[in-house]
Amino acid sequence: MSKLNTAALQAMDAAHYLHPFTDHKDLGARGTRIIERAEGVYLWDSEGNKVLDGMAGLWCVNIGYGRTELAEAAYKQMLKLPYYNSFFQCTNPPAIELAKAIAEVAPEHMNHVFFTGSGSESNDTVLRMVRRYWDLKGKPGKKTIISRVNGYHGSTVAGASLGGMSVMHEQGDLPIPGIVHIPQPYWYGEGGDMSPDEFGIWAAQQLEAKIQELGIDQVGAFIAEPIQGAGGVIIPPDTYWPEIKRILAKYDILLVIDEVICGFGRTGQWFASQHYDLKPDLMPIAKGMTSGYLPMGGVIVSDRVVETMVEHGGEFYHGYTYSGHPASAAVGLENLRIMRDEKIVEYVREEAAPYLQEKIAGLAEHRLVGEVRGVGLLGAIELVKDKATRERFPDKGTVGTLCRDLCVANGLVMRAVGDTMIMSPPLVISRSEIDELVDKAWKVLDQVAEQLGV
Ligand code: PMP
Repeated sequence: MSKLNTAALQAMDAAHYLHPFTDHKDLGARGTRIIERAEGVYLWDSEGNKVLDGMAGLWCVNIGYGRTELAEAAYKQMLKLPYYNSFFQCTNPPAIELAKAIAEVAPEHMNHVFFTGSGSESNDTVLRMVRRYWDLKGKPGKKTIISRVNGYHGSTVAGASLGGMSVMHEQGDLPIPGIVHIPQPYWYGEGGDMSPDEFGIWAAQQLEAKIQELGIDQVGAFIAEPIQGAGGVIIPPDTYWPEIKRILAKYDILLVIDEVICGFGRTGQWFASQHYDLKPDLMPIAKGMTSGYLPMGGVIVSDRVVETMVEHGGEFYHGYTYSGHPASAAVGLENLRIMRDEKIVEYVREEAAPYLQEKIAGLAEHRLVGEVRGVGLLGAIELVKDKATRERFPDKGTVGTLCRDLCVANGLVMRAVGDTMIMSPPLVISRSEIDELVDKAWKVLDQVAEQLGV
């Protein structure tokens, strides 16, 4: 542990460390919080403050902090073989075993994994693989990928282009060509006078309209998060996925379901594709794959796509130095063992998720809250000025940021997306910890209301 005190660390941080997704001028003025250690669902900062981590790090620490088994798996693997590549006909035992273990929990028609180093890299792989697939099929025109406004698929050039975040697109002439966006299924924010069910159908039909507009010989794939995470835990209306499935059955395009957040138990199934009964061709994964203990990502690939690549042959000129990294793979394998042996997915489905959803539903009674929604261990709370009309506060994000800051001051991490508060706690969160999370959230909402004078 660092012997430097908080002020010295902050000064050094400001002098040398450029943070991701940060206004560097603003950060210099506000200073940083230094997170020093963690155990279970709790974090401690360098001032000794204990905080309940309602976001599982960045949606990734699924089995919770402090599991020595994962540290030991990394240690042993690093002593034995810290690194070797999977190029040039080589491979390594942990990567092989992890690919098999993932195939065992993936949907039945998906039996192969392409390893990457992160979720963003996984979506770069998706872009390359979709185009490679259609080239091999003799349909090279099918290059366009349809995505959604306010989706998130990472921060590399392909990831940010596939994503539908306008602020990201504005920086650097994105999206790159061949990626188009349709509206998102965000009923609370954009449903207007339609019922959720009507809006779900409408939003799904935007896919069909876009395919027809572009022409089926131009469209290679549709990519979506099963539940949009970074966009604000946006859960599509019940009608959405069935209508998307109806459309996909009509047109020959690939389905890419981005499981970077939802994969590895978040919804109470191994993958949200199983929760929504979807049959993807490609599933980008990361985060919960190693519970964040070491960086790793991948793309789970359907038999249909693999068979095409094997049948036609020819090198796929794509891969990363750290594809199938032995130490990350060893950690991933141990993470999966723990999830299976301790029945963590079953725990989410049968105990933690029903309890969390029941408890957070009560927050809808609060005068600032327009809607509470959730699936599994994902939750969102919409902060509004007027519950009846869904009217927002002026200056989008101001109230959300206030709420987020008060959360931290009260020992709770929740994230703000505009004025939507979101949560995604470790999957191992207990009932009493859920009680603590919801009690703190209510107390913070009161403090926000008080500061706003409402
Ligand atoms: N896809 C989704 C759905 C994500 O939520 C994220 C990260 N939040 C990514 C991709 C990108 O992952 P990474 O940050 O590991 O590159």
